[in-house]
Amino acid sequence: MTSKTRSVAEIVEPQPVIEGAGVKLRRSIATRRLNYVDPFLLFDHFGSDDPKDYLAGFPMHPHRGIDTVTYMLAGLVDHKDSLGNAGTIGAGDVQWMTSGGGILHEEMPKPKDGEMEGFQLWVNLPARLKMSRPRYREIKADRIPEVRRPDGVRVRVVAGTADGVRGPVTEIAADPEYLDVTVPGGVEYVQPVPEGHAAIAYVFEGEGSFGGEGAQVVAATRLVVLGDGARVRVTGTGDHVRFLLLSGKPLGEPIARYGPFVMNTQKEIEQALEDLRKGTFAWRG
Ligand code: MN
Repeated sequence: MTSKTRSVAEIVEPQPVIEGAGVKLRRSIATRRLNYVDPFLLFDHFGSDDPKDYLAGFPMHPHRGIDTVTYMLAGLVDHKDSLGNAGTIGAGDVQWMTSGGGILHEEMPKPKDGEMEGFQLWVNLPARLKMSRPRYREIKADRIPEVRRPDGVRVRVVAGTADGVRGPVTEIAADPEYLDVTVPGGVEYVQPVPEGHAAIAYVFEGEGSFGGEGAQVVAATRLVVLGDGARVRVTGTGDHVRFLLLSGKPLGEPIARYGPFVMNTQKEIEQALEDLRKGTFAWRG
C-alpha cells in the first residue's frame, strides 16, 4: 500500500487539426508529440462559434479495433451507423461506441443556440475483442449521475465511481473512469484512481493545481498526463477549475494504427483496408 498522490508528468497544449470533411478541432492525443497514453489512443476537443468550422462534419467512415466516446457540452451531433442506429446526441449526452470488428458511421455536428462543443476519446480494445461484435450505447444527460459535495465540488460520472456513485457505462475492457469534475477556487478535490492505471485530465475551464508535493498550476485549455499513484488531487486556483478526469488500465499490447483503425499488427491494418475495398468491412453477425 502506498499513499502516493499522482503528480503532473506532462502538460500538453492541444494542436489545431482538420479532420473529417473539414472540421477544425484541437487534438491532444494522437499527435506527433503524444501518440497515445495506453489505453487512450486519441483525444479531440471540438467546438467553435463559427458553424463553418464544423458543419461539413464526419460523413460515413469506418472504425475497427477501438471504442469511440463522444461527450457533448453544447450543440448537437446527428449520427447513424451500419448497425441501424440513428439519432441525435445533445448537451450532457454521451455516445459510447464499441467498433469491434467493424462499423461504418456518420457524425454531423450542428449548432444549438449558436453553440457546439464536445470531446471525442478513443479507448483501445484488447486483441481478443478487436474483431468482436460492435456495440452502441447512447446515454442521455439525465441518466448520468452528478455527485454534489457540500464544498461545492461537482462530478458527473459517465464511467467508473465517484463517492460511491457509479456511472452508467460499464463492461468496457479497459475498466475506464470518465468523470466531468468542477472544483471551486480554494477547494481541494481528491479522487482515488487504481495504481497502475493511466490517468489524464483535460482542463477546459479555469485553472487548478494538480498533484501533491510540487503541485503544478494548469490553466485551460491543456491536457495533463498524470504519473502513477493511488489518487488524484486537484485544488481550484482561480474562480474554479473544470476538467475531464479519465483513467484506464493499460493493455500493454502492440499498437498498429492507421486513421480510423487501431489494430495490433500492420497485417491487420492491411486486412481492414482490403475488407473496406471488398465491401465486407462492417460486422455481420
Ligand atoms: Mn467516427
